[in-house]
Amino acid sequence: MSGVEKSGLQPEVAWPEASRRVDVLVVGGGPGGLIAAREMATRDRGLSVLLLERDRAIGAPVRCGEGVGSGGLSEFIDPKGAPWVSRKITKVIFWAPDGTEVRVAEGDVGYVLDRTRFEPALATEAGLAGAEILIGTEATGLRRDGDGWLVAVRGGGREYVIRARLVIAADGVDGMVARWAGLDTRVPSRDMESCAQYLLTNVNVDQDAIYLHFGDNVAPGGYAWVFPKGGESANIGLGTVALRAGGRNARQWLDDYVQSYFPTGIRVSYTVGGVIVHPTIRRTVTDALITVGDAAHMINPLSGGGIVNAMKAGRLAAEVGVAALCAGDVSAARLERYHDAWMTSLGDDHIRFHKLKDALSKFDDSFFDKLAKTVNGIAYEKRTLRRIFGSALMHHPTLLPVVAKYFV
Ligand SMILES: Cc1cc2nc3c(=O)[nH]c(=O)nc-3n(C[C@H](O)[C@H](O)[C@H](O)COP(=O)(O)OP(=O)(O)OC[C@H]3O[C@@H](n4cnc5c(N)ncnc54)[C@H](O)[C@@H]3O)c2cc1C
Repeated sequence: MSGVEKSGLQPEVAWPEASRRVDVLVVGGGPGGLIAAREMATRDRGLSVLLLERDRAIGAPVRCGEGVGSGGLSEFIDPKGAPWVSRKITKVIFWAPDGTEVRVAEGDVGYVLDRTRFEPALATEAGLAGAEILIGTEATGLRRDGDGWLVAVRGGGREYVIRARLVIAADGVDGMVARWAGLDTRVPSRDMESCAQYLLTNVNVDQDAIYLHFGDNVAPGGYAWVFPKGGESANIGLGTVALRAGGRNARQWLDDYVQSYFPTGIRVSYTVGGVIVHPTIRRTVTDALITVGDAAHMINPLSGGGIVNAMKAGRLAAEVGVAALCAGDVSAARLERYHDAWMTSLGDDHIRFHKLKDALSKFDDSFFDKLAKTVNGIAYEKRTLRRIFGSALMHHPTLLPVVAKYFV
């Protein structure tokens, strides 16, 4: 088994017999994989569902700002009084490049999670529903076997092979499983944002608000975020696109940002990670395999949010996958239903958002400074999305072709 390497091309070596057989093998214990496992096990208690997580803990290390919208989250788990909520968010505040503050929403906006507790809560639900979870266990290769897959696995000090009737590739932003199965998961470099984030203490921000800060001098190609974590702490991070970042990495941009805006902040943890701001891959399924979440580029290309999207995809994969297993047909033709349903619910929107992001990237900072002032001219209580758009179009007609092209 040592010849099976984690690369796009798998070496041609003889594989040992499978030492274990399962109906469903979920690779990846993030929100997408955990919801897929929970929903599969819940829908059909007779199915054997096994989830592999490479890291030594479900939910850690955290590579995330941890912000989610209320509506999407509540479809999956009740956040009321949950120990995995760091903050309930009731305000969204934009900062224009020149620092102009624009308050755009107030009410039941969302939550900042504690993912070190959130994902274990999902894992518990998956486990109680009957799914088995192996941590510190990694899929290292994949090979077709009849109408299912052989999956090479390393964990617990041994290497072995599992045979699965259906594989769920939920292995995240740098996942290889879908690629091993022949799907095209490449990302154009302009659509890969490099992110860096500190958990800072001793910062004085409104703990009920999330802040999003735009500008080429702040985070070229992306934006900076401030997501409160309770007490006087916050996740403060930013994303940049390498082609626009002037040869400086995200950490360097972040250090400047923190120095300028949060000079008293005390750094208590640090993370880096990639966010794919690219529409969903063209094919998310092949025979006996479904790709879920970041592994399928299902992140919202405008916001960079992917937690709820991954959960929605996991649920959809369970719906389509369980029906296919019951029908005894896990062919790509049958699993296409997953791809089609995803594109109809969110994937097609992501194509539009991706084009919009591209179009907006052509406007410079002074345009967004003026736009912020225009929006601030609308009375706060009348600041609905429709009015903001209407007023922005009236005062900045250069936006018209952008909006017309991508939203009409
Ligand atoms: C800095 C940063 C900030 C972000 N902020 C936000 C935010 O505020 N809100 C939001 O909604 N989204 C945010 N995101 C995006 C969000 O984190 C992802 O979209 C989300 O985690 C995707 O879930 P997933 O289940 O698809 O993948 P992941 O959460 O990445 O889970 C994949 C899992 O698969 C495991 N794995 C990988 N390969 C293997 C293998 N071969 N075998 C076994 N296990 C494997 C990994 O260890 C990982 O645990 C952020 C991302 C970054 C990098």
